Amino acid sequence: MTSNLEFVRFPAPDGVNGWWETLPPLSSADTVSSESRYDWVVVGGGITGLCAARRLAELAPDASIALVEADRIGRTTAGRNSGFFVDLPHDISSESYSRSVEADKADVRFQRHGIDYVRSMVKQYNIDCDWRDDGKFHASVNKKGHNALARFAEGLARIDETFEWLDGAAIAKVTGTNFYQDALFTPGCSTVQPAALMRGLAATLPKNVNVFELSAVRRIEDQGQAKVLTFASGKIVAKGVILCTNAYAATFGGHPNGLLPVYTFASMTRVMNQEEVGRLGGTRSWALIPADPMGTTVRRLITDRICVRNHFAFRPNLEVSQADLAKAKSLHQRSFDRRFPMLKDVELEYTWGGPLCLSANNGALFGRRDDGVLEAVGCNGLGLSRGSASGKLIAEYALGHNNELIRQLLNQPHPRALPVRPITDVAVSAAIWMKEFSAGAEL
Ligand SMILES: Cc1cc2nc3c(=O)[nH]c(=O)nc-3n(C[C@H](O)[C@H](O)[C@H](O)COP(=O)(O)OP(=O)(O)OC[C@H]3O[C@@H](n4cnc5c(N)ncnc54)[C@H](O)[C@@H]3O)c2cc1C
Repeated sequence: MTSNLEFVRFPAPDGVNGWWETLPPLSSADTVSSESRYDWVVVGGGITGLCAARRLAELAPDASIALVEADRIGRTTAGRNSGFFVDLPHDISSESYSRSVEADKADVRFQRHGIDYVRSMVKQYNIDCDWRDDGKFHASVNKKGHNALARFAEGLARIDETFEWLDGAAIAKVTGTNFYQDALFTPGCSTVQPAALMRGLAATLPKNVNVFELSAVRRIEDQGQAKVLTFASGKIVAKGVILCTNAYAATFGGHPNGLLPVYTFASMTRVMNQEEVGRLGGTRSWALIPADPMGTTVRRLITDRICVRNHFAFRPNLEVSQADLAKAKSLHQRSFDRRFPMLKDVELEYTWGGPLCLSANNGALFGRRDDGVLEAVGCNGLGLSRGSASGKLIAEYALGHNNELIRQLLNQPHPRALPVRPITDVAVSAAIWMKEFSAGAEL
């Protein structure tokens, strides 16, 4: 029996990605414009797809591999995020980021596997992406936030992870602002310029990987021994296909799969001048996560810009409107002004959004679908470290390997099925609104 997979939503220009815009312009892309044959096609050039294609090529140096991306690599979500490679538990649906001891330990093992893999590539190929192993701060602004940090600290102690408390004066010395009441420092997080990393990973792929950008797969036809992938002006016939399309996999028609495409938004300031840098004080580069997962993430960048992220919106059609972007920018401006009253004249230069792929039970998709296509989909908000690991591991699984982490992913819960629309739309939007409202001062 043959079955087809139809792609019904494609990446759209969701605001202007500051990470991408502040890099040098790129040369033109190779696109799929004829008919060709490959052993493997990896669909999606985010962090998951980049790691999957690399690992396939490492393990099967004689195989021909195509990595196909609908947009430019680095311009979509994997190059739009806040750049935290988080090693520790980070369940954004929990009030303290933690789950059970067993689940937290499994997450840490899995996430560190991904971080180690990408870090080794950055070092080996000298990828210029501001990779930093400087850790992160979780900061609170009031008693409620402090209590959430205390619960997070308890969770970390239970799994023998180290952390350090900073009082208000100590965190102000780092950030230059008195906004935060206290903070927990965790040393294992790495940070990065995400668009630069994605471009660097693509540019250093082994020779048996051909990269095609601006090439959206429209349909995948199952012809038994082969899969035929159709593009706007070409085809690829492949023996195996790996889907790494994260939120875009939520839209395959007629197959509700429990994946929730939820947008979050970021803004980046212009470059501060030396007088403004002096007014701010603090250290040159730091990365801070809010005590409440629905609060505001802030990074001070070595380029003398500040990047803020907050606000979620359920957008099952996988695009945001100008009104969404305007609302996000105004929330970012408010958050920025509250934290940095000394920088009133520093404007937000870029604002953008990007889709995460959440599920109601923190489940994700990993393995072989009924139609034989392989998939590693469902970042649950933490695609940099989880996507790195699941991309690497899906390639190993595709080539018949078996190990403890592969078994962990195969045994993880599938995303819980959702009620039909519009019930899901109303329920998810209401849940986001209530959580954001309750985050209050942390926004
Ligand atoms: C503002 C913001 C801040 C964030 N901060 C963080 C953070 O600090 N740390 C963190 O870990 N995560 C963060 N995230 C989430 C993170 O970006 C995602 O988890 C991550 O990008 C998932 O990687 P991925 O490769 O699985 O999917 P994606 O990055 O979404 O990549 C999927 C790719 O598939 C392509 N694609 C889709 N359909 C097709 C098709 N039909 N044909 C070809 N290609 C297709 C898309 O264009 C896309 O490039 C943030 C996200 C946003 C938006």
